[in-house]
Amino acid sequence: MTRVNELLKIRQLLQRRRREILTVSLGTHRELAALKEQEKDPEYEEGAQSELADYTLSSLVESQRREIMLIDAALRRMDEGVFGECVDCGIEIPLDRLEAMPFAIRCEEDATSHELETRGGRMATPSL
Ligand SMILES: [Zn+2]
Repeated sequence: MTRVNELLKIRQLLQRRRREILTVSLGTHRELAALKEQEKDPEYEEGAQSELADYTLSSLVESQRREIMLIDAALRRMDEGVFGECVDCGIEIPLDRLEAMPFAIRCEEDATSHELETRGGRMATPSL
């Protein structure tokens, strides 16, 4: 299979995943709304359990939103024709890396040094 075909396959996977998240997140939002509705009930006793459910649902909504953002960014990079290229050095990111982490925007080497830099573990080398 050519790289282009592989990238198309990843694109389809991302789009399917995006639809899945949207479907699931619709349910999450509904549950969250139902929970809020329940809390308005004067008979309702606030308990640790409902707070936990509230917290769990809210963080679920948050992680769903974050994943959608990542997928959208990846799809945008595909539209621009730069998906699968390292943003730092421009080389083609190996397909096995993209299949494992479709949101990767750097080759393994640059991802590692980027991580070190953002963590402040290493000074950025001045480029001249
Ligand atoms: Zn690179």
